[in-house]
Amino acid sequence: MSDRAFDVVVVGSCMTDLVSQAPRLPKAGETIHGHKFFIGFGGKGANQCIQAARLGVKTAMICKVGKDFFGDNYIQNFKDNDVHTDFVWQTSDAATGAASITVNDAGENAIVIVAGANMRLGEEELQKALTAIRKAKVLVCQLEISSQTSLRALQMAHDNKVRTIFNPAPAIPDLDFGFYRVSDVFCCNESEAELLTGYSVNNVEDAHHAAQELLRRGCTAVIITLGPQGCVVLKAQDKTSTHVPSTAVKAVDTTGAGDSFIGALAFYLAHHPDMPLEEMARRANQVAAVSVQAVGTQTSFPFKRDLPADLF
Ligand code: ADP
Repeated sequence: MSDRAFDVVVVGSCMTDLVSQAPRLPKAGETIHGHKFFIGFGGKGANQCIQAARLGVKTAMICKVGKDFFGDNYIQNFKDNDVHTDFVWQTSDAATGAASITVNDAGENAIVIVAGANMRLGEEELQKALTAIRKAKVLVCQLEISSQTSLRALQMAHDNKVRTIFNPAPAIPDLDFGFYRVSDVFCCNESEAELLTGYSVNNVEDAHHAAQELLRRGCTAVIITLGPQGCVVLKAQDKTSTHVPSTAVKAVDTTGAGDSFIGALAFYLAHHPDMPLEEMARRANQVAAVSVQAVGTQTSFPFKRDLPADLF
């Protein structure tokens, strides 16, 4: 099975979101009654992989979950979404990554994330998945697992001429410059661009400047996403960046919009490798714009059947 070639391989995180809605956030030592509880599938890596799979490419996830109920449940979620699970490992040494989220009636939240098993993914697992990495069309990484593991996976892909998308999220200051050199597309949002460059990024003009700075660090192309304003695209061969606007929609929940965008971008890079990056970004904007019109993270990500045929 592991000799099969995948279009998109994601090396990244799985998180189970445990969401409680309550009239207010509890104080230290206090117990209060909430009015609603639900469990959601999250984690940037898994989100991006599932969005790519829903658009119709062959995907595999390389990740680690706990040998527990949430881990079993997550593996089933991958299967339900046609994501290959031979490289989803389970460990008894840590629990499946979890985010305990409390949301009050004003929409404010308090979140505790325990990365757990995600931090146990390392060189050993990457070596076991080496054939899948080598044969992939596109490899995608983020920073919700050990940054060493992400960098190593990107290097392995880059050495094998596999196109790479790196999403430096959540952003860390003083990111190793090695990440830029192995990124074909370095894709982040405004706040990540701000943290990485030290520039303030509040509008399209600022994003053009930040993109130039990120490109100077050695990646082949940069995309900075700008919420309802779409994104800015800058390629090494071009002198100036292009603003690619998004469709105007009524957003109800933007959680996971960036992951929907990156999953779609991975789909286009694998499915239409010769398409101009600006056109891939235009289409990824449209996919992500659909995701913000429904509630939840993965629950809001569209399938191929939900989208107009001219996006494929
Ligand atoms: P993140 O979720 O990482 O903060 P953004 O907010 O930049 O990322 O959103 C990613 C992409 O989702 C945008 O580039 C855009 O295509 C789409 N998007 C986000 N918010 C909206 C919105 N309100 N209307 C239309 N598209 C949106």
